[in-house]
Amino acid sequence: MEARERVYRSLSGEKADRTPVLSVTQTGTLELMKATGAFWPDANYDPKQMVELSVAGHTVVGFEAIRIPFCLTVLAEALGCEIEQGREDRQPAVSKTLFDQGITPKLEGLVDRGRVPTIMEAIKNIKSDRYKVPLIVGFEGPTTLAGQMMGVERFCLTMIKKPDEASKYIKWAEEACVEYAKAAVREGADIIAPADPTASPSVLSPKMFEKYSKDPLKAVAAVHPRSILHICGNALPIIAHMAECGFAGLSVEEKVDLAAAKKAIGERKIALIGNVPSAGVLLNGSEEEVFREAKKAIAAGVDVLAPSCGIAPRTPTRNLRALVRAATSP
Ligand SMILES: [Zn+2]
Repeated sequence: MEARERVYRSLSGEKADRTPVLSVTQTGTLELMKATGAFWPDANYDPKQMVELSVAGHTVVGFEAIRIPFCLTVLAEALGCEIEQGREDRQPAVSKTLFDQGITPKLEGLVDRGRVPTIMEAIKNIKSDRYKVPLIVGFEGPTTLAGQMMGVERFCLTMIKKPDEASKYIKWAEEACVEYAKAAVREGADIIAPADPTASPSVLSPKMFEKYSKDPLKAVAAVHPRSILHICGNALPIIAHMAECGFAGLSVEEKVDLAAAKKAIGERKIALIGNVPSAGVLLNGSEEEVFREAKKAIAAGVDVLAPSCGIAPRTPTRNLRALVRAATSP
């Protein structure tokens, strides 16, 4: 079975020959930067370097997907947030929110602004090389994007004190996410993957998730049948809501009890993706630990084996390969 078919089948709840292995979250590491000569921060801005570094996740590590980009700031930047570029071992981050600048987001012409054309160019290049693995395009989910526009703390307070104001921002964020996801699919993205860390129960209560985050996520999931939602932390209290958003797969961290998550998902054909600890095991563990934890995740019933969250830049390639080995060896 080819990797693409294996991943697609696993995402749609059909039988595959084995559990596929990939990363839903960022894949840039210092070792892969050295191997390719494509380093952050340039690889976050130059489409050619973005392609070289992201493809290494497949060609060097063995992931059964290619995943771009390496940060969660592309939409925030296109909407007008100021971005600090980061360094070789640090991702770009929002340095000035829209609120700080006293401006409202510019939605019109979104796909022509900031690094959106960079991502589209990278998609085109990866597709033209006809790799036999799917291309995953990630981006900040609506709640996270609204938090970037306002500042997370201010956004959380606004939800409580001025619900209409919070709804306005989340609506803008939803529109931006949908617009961007549609553009990515048009250019050839095989899987869209919003990551919505600010929607995690460690930041937002499940009640607030239901009120503010759920409908915008439904709108994003509706863009493409192959979609994966990643939410950080212990997402178990909201997993039933996440399962109602329409995503083909849910990507969760190690804090989520897989058996309980499966139970909450119930009869729905939704792939559970994860959840080998990115920091505790992939970054800091030995190859043996990675292999053991990965086998444990497979035994616990993940449909797609993956790091639990974004791969840390100092993660050794040998550990990422051990993760791949756990999926590909009996
Ligand atoms: Zn995460």
